[in-house]
Amino acid sequence: MEKKKMRILELYSGIGGMHYAAELANVGAEVVFSVDINTSANAVYRHNFKQTNQQARNIESLSAKEINKLQPDIIMMSPPCQPFTRVGLKLDVEDSRCSSFLHLLDILPHLETVSFILMENVVGFETSEMRNAFTKALKNCDFHFREFILSPESIKIPNSRSRYYLVAKKCTDFLFGSENDIMTSFPNSSCDIEMPVQEKTLDPYLEKDMSDEELARYLLTDKTLLKYWRILDVRRTSDTSSCCFTKAYTHYAEGTGSVLQHDPNEPFHQKFAEFKEDEDIAHLKPLKLRYFTPREVGNLMGFPAEFTFPENTSLKTRYRLLGNSLNVLVVSNLLRILLG
Ligand code: SAH
Repeated sequence: MEKKKMRILELYSGIGGMHYAAELANVGAEVVFSVDINTSANAVYRHNFKQTNQQARNIESLSAKEINKLQPDIIMMSPPCQPFTRVGLKLDVEDSRCSSFLHLLDILPHLETVSFILMENVVGFETSEMRNAFTKALKNCDFHFREFILSPESIKIPNSRSRYYLVAKKCTDFLFGSENDIMTSFPNSSCDIEMPVQEKTLDPYLEKDMSDEELARYLLTDKTLLKYWRILDVRRTSDTSSCCFTKAYTHYAEGTGSVLQHDPNEPFHQKFAEFKEDEDIAHLKPLKLRYFTPREVGNLMGFPAEFTFPENTSLKTRYRLLGNSLNVLVVSNLLRILLG
C-alpha cells in the first residue's frame, strides 16, 4: 500500500521557495494550501504551481477551524519579520507586518493535525521578543525545536545568504543539538541532497551565450558606474562566492548584491587600480560590468530550471520577489532533517 502523503500548509508563500524545497526534499510531502497577500508574488506562484490551491489572503483571516479542515501535517513559513529584529514586542504588535504571526501563535494550540513546523527568518530574529514568544508557544504545545543560522555557502553554493531557521516537531525530540544552542552548520550526515552543480565557482550558475541585446539590459549604466564604482562588489565567473541578493538589487548599489564582470578576460584589478576619479569611465567599460540576471540569482538560490516568471513580470519585480525568497537547497535539507 502506498504511504499517505504528508500535507503541507505553506504560509507567506511568496514565489514558492518552500514549495520547491519540499519537492526537492522528496520526502513524500506535498503543499495542499498556500497563502500570501501579495498580488505579484501570487501571480508568479500560480504560474509555476497551477495545481496548488493558492489563496490571496491575509493570514490573519485564517482560523484554527479552517486550518484543521485542511488537515495539514506540516507548516512551512517565512513570516515578514524585519520589525521583530530591531525593536521589542510592544512596537512589533503595532506593526501590521507582525500581527499575522502573532495570530498564528494564538491559534497554534487549536491546530489538531500539525506535528511539524519549519520557519525561515532574518538573522536577528534569534534575539527578538518574537522569538521568545514563538518558542514559548511551541513548548506549550509540546513541540521540540532546533534553531539554525545557515548560509548556502555551508553547502558549497557560491552565494552568501545567512538566515535564521527554526524546525519543530510535536512530542518527539531531535537526536542532535539542544534548545539552548543555535546551530551554525547542518548536523552530521544530514546533507544528502544531491547538488545540481558540483563545482563551487559562479560559472555554472551563469547564463551562457548571452546575446548583445540581452547583455545590454543588464549592463551597469554610466551613471551607476560613475557614482558607485568604489562600493560595487564585483565578481568574476571564476569566483567562489557572491553577496546576498536583496529585494533592492539593481535599485540601490550598496550591499544589495554582487555585480559580475561579464568579460572574464579583462584584467579587472588593474583596471580598477588605474582608474582615477576624474577619468572617463570609458576605462572601466571593457570589463562589461553587469547585474546577475534574475535567472542567475534564481540558480544561486536553488530554483529549478522549470521555474519561470510570467512574461509580464517586470525586471524590478523579479529581483524584488527573488530577494524576498529563500535558498531552496538549504530549506530542502532542513525539511529532511525535520522529517528524518
Ligand atoms: N518564502 C517566500 C517569501 C516570503 S517573504 C518565497 O519563497 O518567496 C514574506 C511574504 O509574506 C511576502 O510575500 C508577503 O506578501 C507575505 N505577507 C506578509 N504579511 C502577510 C499577511 N498578513 N498575510 C499573507 N501574506 C503576508
